[in-house]
Order: sequence, then structure tokens, then C-alpha cells
Amino acid sequence: MRPLALLALLCLAAPAAADGPPAPAPLTWAHAPPPFAPRVRTGVKGLRPKRRGLVDLDRWPAEPASPPTAEIDPIAFGDALEALCVWLPRKRRARWSHDVLDAAKAFEVDPFLLGALIFRQSRCRSFQKSDFGVGLTQIHPAMHRPHLFDGAYRYHVWTGERWDRRILDLPDVKFTAANLKSARGNVFLAAALLKVAAEQCPANDGAFGSVPHRHPVSHFVWGDTVRGAGAEDRILTDRRRLLEYYGGQRGPPRGKWRGLTLHSPLDGAPRKLTSLMGEPRQGGRRRHMGLDFESASGEPVRAVADGTVFFAGVDRKRGPSMNVPPEDIPKVKARTMAPGGLLVMIRHEGGLVSAYMHLSSYNVRQGDVVQAGALIGRVGRTGMQRSAAHLHFELRHDGHHVDPLPHVKPYVFLPGDTWRGRREAWEKKRRKRRRKRRR
Ligand SMILES: [Zn+2]
Ligand SMILES: [Zn+2]
Repeated sequence: MRPLALLALLCLAAPAAADGPPAPAPLTWAHAPPPFAPRVRTGVKGLRPKRRGLVDLDRWPAEPASPPTAEIDPIAFGDALEALCVWLPRKRRARWSHDVLDAAKAFEVDPFLLGALIFRQSRCRSFQKSDFGVGLTQIHPAMHRPHLFDGAYRYHVWTGERWDRRILDLPDVKFTAANLKSARGNVFLAAALLKVAAEQCPANDGAFGSVPHRHPVSHFVWGDTVRGAGAEDRILTDRRRLLEYYGGQRGPPRGKWRGLTLHSPLDGAPRKLTSLMGEPRQGGRRRHMGLDFESASGEPVRAVADGTVFFAGVDRKRGPSMNVPPEDIPKVKARTMAPGGLLVMIRHEGGLVSAYMHLSSYNVRQGDVVQAGALIGRVGRTGMQRSAAHLHFELRHDGHHVDPLPHVKPYVFLPGDTWRGRREAWEKKRRKRRRKRRR
């Protein structure tokens, strides 16, 4: 038998036994069954929980409050939305800002959550269509069609004794294909669905065997059976970022190296780490020399402290790294890049150096003086072969690598804090055991 086939067979045969990778346990429910068929997210295989989100949900910090919707300045909100989306033409910025604020008012939901959905679900593209949905917030019509009657949304809410029927009128924006594709229609329908989810969660969580989560936004993504809290982690992080861009505030710096205070290199902290320093790379031929931050392509990358840029350029396969002025980045060919890709290095007080790698672009040049928290570049996946876009962050001192983890700890969750990290650790161990057995 071919090794691949054997592996597939082993996976099928593997019981969810004591030695299996850990997974969140589904919630249970002891009351009357709900009188509606579960809304199910399409395009997802298997019924097992997705092992991605945070293991201990209590470790997630309390979400910052939004200002009252009526007091939000639409222009500033549009600018914040553009900072999240990376690029939004001026007209669209103004239009979407009004759409989001109107929808938030109409259905009494958080406009910052709506903004986060727009970015995370479609990356701010209203024409986006995928297996998971249509339009700006990727609403799946099939998931909701059975609940629509005469242009109203019919749903049930657990009152503590029984399931009560509710009807949500959608007077201005009907649930139609055309409206799902239009920005305003999509955002209004998203606001309506968020309102429904907020009323139904948490009562329907156990009824459909969901895994623990913190926020009804999970049902927007998953329908009635929430299989993992990872999507919610990302959406809530985006919401925090949007609030930071709107308020212009990122909180006091909490990291520290000797006497130097360090800011987070990414917004919306705490952020998840997918890889730590010292992990083997290329089959053990080299070690990982920094931290990998889970992040979206195009996200702002910021200087962790005041300093001077002493390198902004490309890690090359042949020859030493080379400074490249930001305007010449398009001339650098991807295939000439070594693993670091496009990177920026900043020298700080006390001789500490911070490095930011795999950037899609940067906006600083050698010799620039930058302040803590200044935008220096954008997350990308330059120099990588397989991984998804992420930020690789390093600290160096006196020519040696310094493990950044103790110095940026207030801004991060460790890989072992997530189901995904634990599963990967378990799989690594299993592979090691197999290798030993074969020898
Ligand atoms: Zn729920
Ligand atoms: Zn890395």
C-alpha cells in the first residue's frame, strides 16, 4: 500500500480516544428540542469540531465597548473602515459608513462588529461570492431561506420554558439575491441576522451540540451548530482593530525589554502566535529564530519602539540582503527572495534590534527615524513557500537572537493556548514516535 493511502486509512481508523488530539467538548441541552431544523454552514466537511479557537475562553480579554451608534462620526468611521480594509475609494468609504451606521441603528447591533464582518468575511469586496456566502458579509442564502416568509425572518427564542416564535420584519431591505449582492442590502441583512443570533444564543447552543464560544457572531458564520471559536476570535480581533482606528487609541505599551517599553507589532492585541522561537525548520536543518503572529495579509505592521531603520529591503537567495527603497519594491522578483522575504529592521535604544519579515510592502527606508507604533509596513507572505500570510517578528541584541516571547507576552496567546496549537503539538509528537518506531 502506498504511504498516503496508509495514512488516510490510519486517520479513518483513529478513534477519538484518550491519546487523540484534544478537541473542545460540545455543549449539551436538557430541554425541549427546538422546533426548527438546524441552519447549517455549507462547504464544511465532517461533523467534528474545528480545533482552532482558544482553549480557555476566559483568557480572552473583555471586549472594549463601542461608543453609542448615534454619537459615531460617519466620516471618522469611514476612515477607520478604510484602515481595516487597507483600501477603500473615498466615495465607497462614505457610502459604506452610512450603510453600516444605518443598519446598526435599524437593528440595534454594534456597527464595529458589522465592520469587522465586512473585512473578515469578504475582505471588503461586495462582489465576493464563495462556498460560504454572498457579498460583503458572506451570507449564505440556503442557510436562511427556510426561515423567510413574506419578506420577514421567522425564528424561535427559548424563554426558559418553551420556544417562542418571533418574526423580524425586513421592511426596507428584502432578503433577495440582488440585495445580498449590494453593499447596503448585505449589511442590513447581516445586521438583522446578528440581532437574531444574539436573541437565540446561548439557548440554542446546547440544543444543536455547539462547542463553547463567547459571542453570538459565531452563529453568523456557523449557523446553529458552532463547531469552533476560531472565526469568532478573528472577527473580535478585527472589531478591536476597527475600534482602535476609530478612536485613534491603542492603549499603553505593556511589553518590556530592559528599560525599554515595547508596543505590539500588530493592532488589536492580544494576538495568536502560531510558532515560537527554536522550533525546527526544514526538517531540523535550521531553527525558527522568532515568533510567528497569525495575521491577515495587508494588516499594518508597527515599530515596537522608537528607533532608526537600519535595514529595509530584501532577503536574497544569492548574495547578501540588500536595501531597497520602498518605491522600488515592485522591481524585486519573488523568486529571488530567501525565506525572510521583504523585511524591515529597526535599531532601538540600548542596541536592541527588532525585525519584521515576510512583509508585502514597507513604507520606510534605511536611515529613517521612526516612533513607537508608527506604521512601517504591511503583513504579507514574501519569501515563504507554503505558509499563509503572517508576521515573523524577531529581536536581536549584540549580534545574538533574543527570544521575543517574554518581552511581548502581554500581547500574545501561545500556540498551546489554542486547540489548533495543541493538535499540532500532538501530531508532531506522533510523527516523532513513528519515526522512532521505524528505526
Ligand atoms: Zn451561541
Ligand atoms: Zn517565522
